[in-house]
Amino acid sequence: MLDEYGRSINYIRVSVTDRCNLRCTYCMPEEGVEQVSHSDILSYDEIARVIRLCAERGISRVKLTGGEPLVRRGLPSLVETLKQIPGIEQVTLTTNGVLLKEQMGALAGAGIDAVNISIDTLDQEMYAHISRRDKLADALSGLEEALKYREVKVKINCVPLLGVNEDQWVPLSLLAKEKPVDVRFIEMMPIGYGKKYQGKTQEDILSVLREAYGEERCSSGVFGNGPSTYVEFPGFRGKIGFISAMSHKFCSECNRVRLTSEGLLKPCLQYAAGEDLRTPLRRGASEDELSRLIGRAIYHKPLSHHFEMEEGEGFEEKQMSRIGG
Ligand code: SAM
Ligand code: SF4
Repeated sequence: MLDEYGRSINYIRVSVTDRCNLRCTYCMPEEGVEQVSHSDILSYDEIARVIRLCAERGISRVKLTGGEPLVRRGLPSLVETLKQIPGIEQVTLTTNGVLLKEQMGALAGAGIDAVNISIDTLDQEMYAHISRRDKLADALSGLEEALKYREVKVKINCVPLLGVNEDQWVPLSLLAKEKPVDVRFIEMMPIGYGKKYQGKTQEDILSVLREAYGEERCSSGVFGNGPSTYVEFPGFRGKIGFISAMSHKFCSECNRVRLTSEGLLKPCLQYAAGEDLRTPLRRGASEDELSRLIGRAIYHKPLSHHFEMEEGEGFEEKQMSRIGG
């Protein structure tokens, strides 16, 4: 459906849990993580009901995220259910990859269309520093396992952090030269613990990559769920992508809404506002009532974020793992 500014909203990011097996410094605190109680998290049946109604309003792509989605038991069964919903064309996953080796077979069997694996560095010590856990080897085994399933598109996501993983753009991009994966650089957004970090722009990264790999070619076409810009380097098997919400604001083309693990349908990452779907779901609301709430959230999607402002009325205060990144 169209929102009030005429944008076509066809993509939803669904957070299935706020829990995580890593503690990335820009996303979660080391200790004292306030957890949503299990009973407050939407069940798979409740998520499926919401997605069915969203599909009737034109949502065709679902991304499962978190927290770390693979720490929630039985995720492949949710994938299978969502894939059967009329109108849902793609179900994809964003994961840190640590538990992917064990679960990839079941996810592929359930029909997952694509897997994005977040790896900010290929240096073991740096990985342990950023994620506060020594799990790079597990994440890389997860990547290798995912690559065995040719029908599943695999991408790597890296958040470039000033003064932290700056020497990693070239080694990470090398994965796209050697393997059939796209490597994407996601600009740091000032959400939650991310406010303490400064990112790097796509121009900074591109200039480093140009020196290593030569001139890039712009890649045209639609390769994912939305706002990435892709380039190709000579001899590479995969593409290099950039999602730059800060330096290349894409709000006028934004096509997404988010469902938090607690059942809040959020039309924009930066604002705390959204429609609470859990309360009506649990008091037995009709399909019509739920559908109206979903329509209202989509219709009133804010025109744009204001990440350039440090504080503002109604801004999201929660950490990224709780919102669903
Ligand atoms: N645990 C999974 C993972 O790491 O892929 C899924 C959830 S995580 C919140 C989703 C993505 O958001 C990750 O690629 C992570 O690096 C990114 N992320 C977290 N905080 C961010 C921030 N402040 N700005 C930009 N990206 C962020
Ligand atoms: Fe966990 Fe992903 Fe946040 Fe890292 S970015 S702490 S893996 S939810």
